[in-house]
Amino acid sequence: MNGDLLWHNTLWFSAKEDARRRGRGGYDFAPLLSGMKPVVASADLAICHEEVPLAAAGGPYRNYPLFSAPPQVVKAVKATGYDVCTTASNHAVDQGFAGVRRTLDDLDQAKIAHAGTARSNAESQRSTIFTTRQGIKIGIVAATFSLNGLPMPKGKPWAVHRLSTKELLGQARRAREAGADIVLAAVHIGTEYSTKENAQQVALAKALTASPDIDLVYMHHPHVVQPWTIVNKKLGALRRREHGGSAGSQSHLRRCNWAVHLHPRAEWPIHGQQSGIHSDPGHLLPAWPTSPALSRICEIEDR
Ligand SMILES: [Zn+2]
Repeated sequence: MNGDLLWHNTLWFSAKEDARRRGRGGYDFAPLLSGMKPVVASADLAICHEEVPLAAAGGPYRNYPLFSAPPQVVKAVKATGYDVCTTASNHAVDQGFAGVRRTLDDLDQAKIAHAGTARSNAESQRSTIFTTRQGIKIGIVAATFSLNGLPMPKGKPWAVHRLSTKELLGQARRAREAGADIVLAAVHIGTEYSTKENAQQVALAKALTASPDIDLVYMHHPHVVQPWTIVNKKLGALRRREHGGSAGSQSHLRRCNWAVHLHPRAEWPIHGQQSGIHSDPGHLLPAWPTSPALSRICEIEDR
């Protein structure tokens, strides 16, 4: 899993130039993410966080503060190897309900599963469960702590999963009931540019990991790496928090970004029984965007 795909205009400019160099028009975002592809594509399950809504084909495209990104990003997300994207973020309703709907429609079309926002009440209640090649069912639940002060789309209180422990545990319970062997919680939360988790994050991690319905918690939004740790350790099951950002244009700040890779080593019990699913504590693969003309998420040494 990795942090925010935060499509600033500087990244569109890069994608436009990359497309031009290949003798095409439009935008090609795949080169930007190509440094991460070996890690992402080889994962049994790769999850991105699509932080911002997508524009209609042809735009208009918008930068901060009310993002509307070129929809060509989805092709790159798919080509990089992501299986699922979480979409609950503080920018989720930057373009109102139309933006929520367009983003999910585009992800559907690319056959990328999603969690965190919804086009209908029924969809908001549906569990996102990804089945790995080995047949392991992994549920993904997601929520955001903020909508940047924007209102939820009128008459659609279900459009974005807002953060509450109860809400996330409800999603996790439904995922279990729908057959998930493992449930991951992806939460958009934290203090931007702080390398330390805040009190809200700590309290949430404790509350979520206390539930048998959640196996791992990870967080994004701060755009930097924050600590990860084991909380409510039980039966060797993983209980972690990780945070960070992935694609973003704050390259001048040289902020570190990350991807987390879990490795098939230690046993990961499920529901108290030996499951045959293995994982070691995982590790971080830091990466950062280059600057300025052609952005790339660099492949950094494997730690
Ligand atoms: Zn955010």
